[in-house]
Amino acid sequence: MGSLGRCLARSLLRGQPGPSRPAGPRCYGSAPPELQEQTLVLVKPDAVQRRLVGSVIQRFERRGFKLVGMKLLQANQGILERHYEQLRQKPFYPVLVAYMTSGPLVAMVWEGYNVVKSTRAMVGDTNPATAAAGTIRGDFSMHVSRNVVHASDSVETARREIGFWFQRDELLDWHSGDSDYTYGP
Ligand code: UDP
Ligand code: MG
Repeated sequence: MGSLGRCLARSLLRGQPGPSRPAGPRCYGSAPPELQEQTLVLVKPDAVQRRLVGSVIQRFERRGFKLVGMKLLQANQGILERHYEQLRQKPFYPVLVAYMTSGPLVAMVWEGYNVVKSTRAMVGDTNPATAAAGTIRGDFSMHVSRNVVHASDSVETARREIGFWFQRDELLDWHSGDSDYTYGP
């Protein structure tokens, strides 16, 4: 039985309505931990201005990852100081903060198997000039100062960064109907 089947069986055992419930079958916490890895992706202000938000989302959806949080916001200096703490001594830091606060950005949390590593590969090199074609940066940008997206560089960093950008209740634990097709039994 696939995960949806297991989820429905548990719902029925609890005497709850299953698939007819408007929000779909809810089976919180049912996925194994390795399928629940999460990463932070920021669609940076240049990409929002260039109407690239949909193109970025589409790549993650097509890959099979699950969107569990998303919001449009204007970042302030405080959140960026925490987010880019490791880069504070770099010569480009003031320009980076000015860029990241220059307009709205879209913060997203994506979930799935090996999502941190896969996302870094999908995003490509920091410098778009050397980012491979087919990566987000390699396809949508030219210069390191305007490189379209941010992605967490490790599982631990992702956990910390998600905490900077999202409250716990802004992340949704929902059953994705395609999980029987994107993951094996
Ligand atoms: N950055 C920059 N100039 C540089 C290196 C980095 O403007 O020479 C910016 C760029 O926006 C990059 C961000 O700083 O995405 C964070 O740098 P990091 O080395 O963490 O690269 P990333 O993890 O984003 O690939
Ligand atoms: Mg980084």
